Amino acid sequence: MADFSKETLAMLKEAESLTESAMREIDRIVDHNQWKVIEAFQQQKVSDYHFSGSTGYAYNDRGREVLDLVYADVFGAEMALVRPHFASGTHTIATALFGVLRPGDELFYITGRPYDTLHKVIGKPGDGTGSLADFGIGYKEAALLEDGSVDWNAVEAGITPETKVIGIQRSRGYDWRSSFTVAQIGEMIQRVKAIKPDIIVFVDNCYGEFTEEREPTQVGADLIAGSLIKNPGGGLAETGGYICGKRAYVELAAYRLTAPGIGGEVGAMLGTTRGIYQGLFLAPTIVGQALKGSILASAVFEQAGFATKPRWNEPRTDLIQAISFHSADHLISFVQGVQRASAVDGHVVPEPWDMPGYENPVIMAAGTFIQGGSLELSADAPIRKPYIAYMQGGLTYSHVKYAILSSLEHMKDINLL
Ligand SMILES: *Cc1c(COP(=O)(O)O)cnc(C)c1O
Repeated sequence: MADFSKETLAMLKEAESLTESAMREIDRIVDHNQWKVIEAFQQQKVSDYHFSGSTGYAYNDRGREVLDLVYADVFGAEMALVRPHFASGTHTIATALFGVLRPGDELFYITGRPYDTLHKVIGKPGDGTGSLADFGIGYKEAALLEDGSVDWNAVEAGITPETKVIGIQRSRGYDWRSSFTVAQIGEMIQRVKAIKPDIIVFVDNCYGEFTEEREPTQVGADLIAGSLIKNPGGGLAETGGYICGKRAYVELAAYRLTAPGIGGEVGAMLGTTRGIYQGLFLAPTIVGQALKGSILASAVFEQAGFATKPRWNEPRTDLIQAISFHSADHLISFVQGVQRASAVDGHVVPEPWDMPGYENPVIMAAGTFIQGGSLELSADAPIRKPYIAYMQGGLTYSHVKYAILSSLEHMKDINLL
C-alpha cells in the first residue's frame, strides 16, 4: 500500500465528498451510453465470427462491415467508416476534409484556431505539400470572442458562396477556453444552416465521445471524425480512426482513404477487429472513469489553491482538465507525480525538453500501453506562464486518484504545498 501522508489523504477525502453528486451524474451518462452501445451491438447481431480479421483485399469482411454499422447506430449517423488504416486523429480529419472539399471551395473554422496538427493540413497556397491550400482550397477562421463564444458577426460576414464546409472543434484542445457542448454545437449548426442551408458542417469530435449522452451527429452535424486511440477505442483499440455522418460525405471520405470506386469495400483488418469492437463496448465506461478522475483532480487542486478549467462542478464535454499552477516547479512536480504513478514507465522521470515545433520547453507524463494513447492517463505542459498543465484520460478512476495523491505528495516533499 502506497505510503501517502495523512494530510494528502485528507485532501483527497474532502474532494471526494465534495464531488459525490458530480460523480453520480457521470454514472448516469455512463449507463446511458453503455446501454446505447450494447443495443447497437444487438441491433447488428454482432457475433464472435465478426472478430476474426481479414487479409489481402479483404472483400466482404463482415466484421468490418458490421463494425461500420454499429458505429453508425451509436452515433446516430447514416454511415460510418471505422478503420485501423487511419494512422491518427489528424489523418482521419484530413481524410474527411479532403473527401468533401474541391479546388475553389473554402473551409471556414468558426471555433477559432484549430488543433495544432491541422495547421499543416490546411497549409499555405503553393506550399508543395499537398495540403488543402496547395490544392487551391481556401481557408478562413473566425477567432472566438473574449468570453470563448463564437463571433457570429464574423461568421455571418464570412460565409460566401465558396464556403463549402464549416469546421467546429468540440474540445478545448490545449487552450484555456471552454469546450463546446453538444447542445451548443447543435445551436451553431442551426445558425449556419439558416445562413446557407447546403453548407457541410464538420465537427472535430476528438476527446468528446461519450462524455455526454448525445454526439454532434445527433444534433445535425453532417460529418464528424475522431481517433480510436482516444475515447471510442476504449483503451483497447491499437490504432485507427472513425468518420461518420451523412452517407454521401462518408462515401467521399472512403474514396479518399483508399481510392475512388473502391472506398470502404476493401481494407484488411488484420488482427485489429476484436480490439476495436471490445474497445467500443468498454468506451462509455472507461470515458466515465477518466471523467471522474478529471473531476477529482479539478476539486483537489482547486482546494489546494490553483485555478482549474473546467471547475469540478462545471459541465464537461471532453476529457481535458487544465490546471493552472503558481510556478514552473509546481508544474514540473505535478507532471512528474503523474508519471511516477504510472503502471508503465513509472520509473521514468520526465524532464522539460525543447520539443521541435514548440516555443517553450515542454514536459510530458505518459506511461501508456498504447503509444500516445490519450484515453490513458497523461499530462503535459509547456513551461511558460501561466504554468498550465493539461491532464487527460485514465483507464481507471483509482489510477487517477493514485496519480493525484502521488503529485500532491511530491509537491509536499519539496515544500511546494
Ligand atoms: C488529438 C486531437 C487531434 C489530432 O489527433 P492526433 O491523433 O493527435 O493526430 C485533433 N483535434 C483534437 C481536438 C484533438 O484532441
